[in-house]
Amino acid sequence: LSETLSVPPTKDEIAELTVTFNEMTDTLDNAFMMQGRFSASAAHELRTPLAVLQTKVDVFKKKKEHTNEEYDALISVIEKQTHRLRGLVGNLLEMTNMNDNGEQSSICIKDIFEDIISELSHIAKDKQVTMFLDCDNSIVTGNTDLLYRAFYNLMENAIKYNVDGGNVEVHVYRLSKEQVSIKIKDTGIGIPDNNKKNIFEPFYRVDKSRSRQVAGAGLGLSIVDSIIKKHKGTLTVTDNENGGSCFNVILTI
Ligand code: ADP
Repeated sequence: LSETLSVPPTKDEIAELTVTFNEMTDTLDNAFMMQGRFSASAAHELRTPLAVLQTKVDVFKKKKEHTNEEYDALISVIEKQTHRLRGLVGNLLEMTNMNDNGEQSSICIKDIFEDIISELSHIAKDKQVTMFLDCDNSIVTGNTDLLYRAFYNLMENAIKYNVDGGNVEVHVYRLSKEQVSIKIKDTGIGIPDNNKKNIFEPFYRVDKSRSRQVAGAGLGLSIVDSIIKKHKGTLTVTDNENGGSCFNVILTI
């Protein structure tokens, strides 16, 4: 070793080191920039529902007497905004825990979807969206909480970006001995081709004005993507034959 160290580095080696250090600096700069942007977007998204709550409560407090309708309206705002906050905080926590693979177990995909469908039934009812489950008994190995979160986000989007009275279909079947295909199809507004590659980036939302009418921070799909990658699966999006989108997940058994 001392012999190697005593040999002075050549000009080429020094040049190579300089390139490496420059690349490292660029990578770090980028990471800090992304982190800064991430925190700013997260703070902004958290502030919006809080501001709505604050304003509504302030207005409510200014009046001495209230009608039943005013009470109901306030409760409905509180429910909606706390649901939004809960979802956002859950997604942010999930992103910070992304390095933790959690406990692995054998998971029946059908059970997961049955739970999700029951949890989302009230949101679906509000939009008169019907959910169909066509699922075999495939079992995969993975983390239940993470896979639940991934499929929950996809199902919630399929309802949120659907039309009133639309449908969401889930098809789960064995592709081969080792692979299961999970397709979530909706009859919603669809995703333009030029946006398809971006929707998995954190905080990305297709056409802000269109998405603004629907609560969300643009974190859901980036979380789904990380979770599916963690499970060594694939996630793609295509157009649904009858309009709307189709999210395709392939998991290994
Ligand atoms: P969020 O729903 O909070 O905006 P996501 O990361 O889940 O964030 O989705 C990113 C964007 O992709 C959404 O804002 C929406 O424009 C688009 N998108 C996601 N799922 C669908 C879907 N099923 N149909 C149409 N557009 C969708």
